[in-house]
Amino acid sequence: MPPTPRPLVDSFGRRVTDLRLSITDRCNFRCTYCMPEEGLPWLPREDLLTYEELTRIASVAVAWFGIESVRITGGEPLVRAHVPRLVEMLAPLGVDLSITTNGVLLPGLAGELARAGLHRVNVSLDSLRPDVFAALTRRDELDRVLCGIDAAIAAGLDPVKINAVVMRGVNDHEVVDLAAFGRDRGVGMRFIEFMPLDADGAWSRDQVVPASEILEAIDAVFPLERSPDESSPVELSHIEPAELFRYADGGGDVGVIASVTQPFCGSCDRVRLTAEGRFRTCLFAVDELDLRALVRSGATDDDLAAAIETAVAGKWAGHGIGQVTFVRPPRSMSQIGG
Ligand code: SAM
Repeated sequence: MPPTPRPLVDSFGRRVTDLRLSITDRCNFRCTYCMPEEGLPWLPREDLLTYEELTRIASVAVAWFGIESVRITGGEPLVRAHVPRLVEMLAPLGVDLSITTNGVLLPGLAGELARAGLHRVNVSLDSLRPDVFAALTRRDELDRVLCGIDAAIAAGLDPVKINAVVMRGVNDHEVVDLAAFGRDRGVGMRFIEFMPLDADGAWSRDQVVPASEILEAIDAVFPLERSPDESSPVELSHIEPAELFRYADGGGDVGVIASVTQPFCGSCDRVRLTAEGRFRTCLFAVDELDLRALVRSGATDDDLAAAIETAVAGKWAGHGIGQVTFVRPPRSMSQIGG
């Protein structure tokens, strides 16, 4: 019998309200900032949490701790079979249910996902130029991703947002074009600073385009003002960690996720579950809790909740990128779940 939900709070007083579920480590793209060209050693099928196991863990998080939002991610979540079935299983939890995808399979799946109960979607799109897109993702699929964005909008997924990782000398010259694309399509652009989570380990600080520079470039063409309801990004953090701005002419909003230059760890409300069931309290965590082992060894829901509570109590203050003590996690973004 689930108890009355109690807040899941870490030792720094931050409340966890957002759960990210990675459902696969595989991806049909090979983005240079994430995965090597040849891919990575994939998890064997039996190591992945089943949809029943994922739903059970999410249910405990909601019933015990009042988790408010669940995001399905990967790897590329839509390469796993029957994702609409998982959405159907999670929908009764009554949380804000979303997915992060590269969009290439959305043309065939957006309608089914929406009917299954998905609320919203973030599509990754780092370039509007076919050559840059192909070089970055190592796949020539720009057109299909653009169709996927249209399919998501047509399916009524709302909001549809676009994530773009900005890298120096790669796509930084496209920031304004991407902002214009977001304005034209009525979708919110979210520009993300490149983080040291690439599988190649090639990240360097000089490849990071600071959010301040991104905003300056956009503001010069489309003047920006801070969203009135976003005077405190902390309050909105249960929705997203982006610092939000709106276009002064009413053309929608745009956000920057400055994980490197202005970390928002102080307001972090997230926890993550990797595809093989490791519970992580930070993208950059080096410690993990093996929830799959607990689930598969007969743990009760109370046991799972207690283990989650202990792990969250140990959540650290911040990732510390840029400090001498920073240690890169041994996983890439695709192996954690972005
Ligand atoms: N395949 C899906 C997608 O493309 O959105 C979901 C998983 S992907 C790992 C989630 C997000 O992480 C994407 O927006 C991607 O651009 C971002 N990402 C991956 N590696 C990153 C890195 N090194 N720095 C910043 N963002 C990264």
